[in-house]
Formats: sequence, C-alpha cells, structure tokens
Amino acid sequence: MLVSAKKMLNDALKGKYAVGQFNINNLEWTKAVLLTAQELKSPVILGVSEGAGKYMGGYKTVVGMVNGMLEELNITVPVALHLDHGSYEGALKCVEAGFSSIMFDGSHYPIDENVEKTTALVKLVNEKGLSLEAEVGSIGGEEDGVIGTGEVADPDECKRIADLGITMLAAGIGNIHGKYPDNWTGLSFDTLEKIRNKTGDMPLVLHGGTGIPEDMIKKAISLGVAKINVNTECQWAFQKATRKYIEEGKDLQGKGFDPRKLLAPGFEAIKETVKEKMELFGSVGKA
Ligand SMILES: [Zn+2]
Repeated sequence: MLVSAKKMLNDALKGKYAVGQFNINNLEWTKAVLLTAQELKSPVILGVSEGAGKYMGGYKTVVGMVNGMLEELNITVPVALHLDHGSYEGALKCVEAGFSSIMFDGSHYPIDENVEKTTALVKLVNEKGLSLEAEVGSIGGEEDGVIGTGEVADPDECKRIADLGITMLAAGIGNIHGKYPDNWTGLSFDTLEKIRNKTGDMPLVLHGGTGIPEDMIKKAISLGVAKINVNTECQWAFQKATRKYIEEGKDLQGKGFDPRKLLAPGFEAIKETVKEKMELFGSVGKA
C-alpha cells in the first residue's frame, strides 16, 4: 500500500540520511526502482512529473500500475507515489487519482500567491493523510540561461512557506536540473544553513541530484536535506545500456528484437543507478 512521505522523511532527518526520489517514465522504470528498494530494504519515493503522467496514460493509469506492482511483486518497504513539480490543478488531479504525496511548485508565483495556494493544498492533503512538498524560489536549469550558479532561495520566504504545515520544503541552494555547466560553482551551504536555522525540523529537498559530487551530497544531508531527487541519471544509464545493446547488434540476433530482451539492459542499468544512489544517500536497510 502506498504511504505518505511524512514518516520516512522525518525518520531520515533524524537518522541523518536521505530518501531518494526516482522519477519514473514507464513500467520498466517503475519495476526497476521498486525491486531495488525492496532488495536493499530502503524506503523510496516514485516521482511523476505532469509530463510523465500524461505520457504513461494519465495519473489513474500510474496509480493502477504502481499499486498492482506493490501487491504482485510483494513490495513491503515504504513507497510514496509523488507528483513532481505539480501545478495547482495537477495537484488536485493527483489527489483524486490516488497519489500519496504531492509537490506543488508555486515558486514561479509571487510569494503571496505561492503562500495562498500552498495553504489551500495543506488543508486538502491533511484531510486525506497525504504529504505535501512546496517550493520557494526557483531552481536553476539549463533552459533559463543561468550560468555557473543555480538559483538560491530567500531563507525568510522559506520560513513563511515552511510554517504553513507542509511536509517537506524544496529550496534552491545553487542546484540545477539536468546537466551541470562546467563552470558550476557548487551548492551554497551557507544558504542551506540559513534555511535550516529558520525552518527548524523541516525535511529539506534537494532537486537536480544528477551530477552533484558525492561529498557535497553528504554534506547537504548532514545539514538537513532528507530527500534527494534523481531523474536524469537514470535516463542516461538507460540510454547508454540500450545504445550498447543495439550497437553490438544484439537486437539482430535470435529473438533479440523482443522488447523484453531489448529493454532488459536498460532496466538493469536503472537498477544499478538506483542502488548506487541509495548507498550514497544512506537509506539502505532503513525500511
Ligand atoms: Zn525538481
């Protein structure tokens, strides 16, 4: 059964480790993440962006697939199904569809509007026993022309949002989605400490986990990051393994064209990436 992310993240914050959010794109992705979590006895969060939800046939399809796997693959570790960077309307749809956790990304609104919409969603998720992630300030990405540094959040705005009763808070500390530029200046631990001092026991979320050096990940966890989002890295692992299979001509041998064979190396590569991340984040054996 799906659970909210509240207990797993509060446990992680206390235990000084982080729970990975792995974004899913299809059945192979979902199965790879769930089986790895079960093998390693780790709690896990499945992330679904609005685009991925649409791609997979809609939120209800995703909920059906995940719930089916939890039961039939005997997954007993805590699993949250989480909307990633949701709009207000997307958040309402996912609550309706049966997600156990929601991210409302109001970071592009003026802070008062972000507060207003987040407040309304806190009320809704509390009634349903779900968890809610909110975001302050925007997190840099390649497409918005930010070079060298990602965006950093204002600690006072972080406190305003944290005090609304959310479960976890995403705040920019120089992190970036996708590939980090060569001249990236690193995470701003100074900002992270200021946010931590203002928001107290609020589990903090680090987006853009792909490509952040391991020592920075560990330091961020020691300063209150309890959830780390991984997306691009699994995509690269899947792509690399699939490319190798085809370049070696394996799809042309025997029944190598069978999708269950064609997608198997990519599936295994996702499992390996998830395992490496869970070991790095310290969540192995915590379920
Ligand atoms: Zn993100």
